[in-house]
Amino acid sequence: MNVEQVKQWMQLYQTEIEKNKDYLSQLDTDIGDGDHGNNMARGVDAVAAGLAKDNPADLAQTFKSIAMSLISKVGGASGPLYGTAFLEMAKAAKDSESDIPTLLQAAADGVAKRGGAKVGDKTMVDVWTPAAQDAKAGQLNAANIDKLVEATKPLRALKGRASYLGERSIGHLDPGAVSTGMLLKTLLQATA
Ligand code: ADP
Ligand code: MG
Ligand code: MG
Repeated sequence: MNVEQVKQWMQLYQTEIEKNKDYLSQLDTDIGDGDHGNNMARGVDAVAAGLAKDNPADLAQTFKSIAMSLISKVGGASGPLYGTAFLEMAKAAKDSESDIPTLLQAAADGVAKRGGAKVGDKTMVDVWTPAAQDAKAGQLNAANIDKLVEATKPLRALKGRASYLGERSIGHLDPGAVSTGMLLKTLLQATA
């Protein structure tokens, strides 16, 4: 992955989030506080503005710029988690060895550590962690990503706001898992 591809990735993700802003907030209305689409839309706009302003020269700087925009503008639980994902990718990209499986593994480990969630807790970790494994196995594709997102539906939430609902969180997609699925699918498009 190179700087141009990351910029392309963020443009595709911005479009995808804008298109699905109301959908993401509706998912979060069902099992949270209804702000996830708005949080992410603020974030992707800040990412675009930040990249234009920072004009990063290498991959590490590019990921760092994205992380800072997400941390400062998304807010909520998901802002620091997405920020950590990109900060960890910035660290992993330092030696300019930038293969996607290595970057995604660093991001997934960072998100899991930061949020303290495990696979099965009905959070974005349910997409990040197995997607990183799929990437390593050369099996990261849209269909597999969709399956990971869908698999959050029958789960009971054990972390984040949705966990306050207990049993009533069952039967709904996790909003952060859905936005992570969009992030990974636009990554595939940008690097195809
Ligand atoms: P908030 O819940 O603060 O309003 P958002 O609505 O933007 O923040 O994000 C909610 C999403 O954040 C959830 O759908 C879930 O995927 C993710 N999330 C929340 N807490 C955690 C956690 N501890 N670990 C991993 N992901 C989490
Ligand atoms: Mg929310
Ligand atoms: Mg909130």
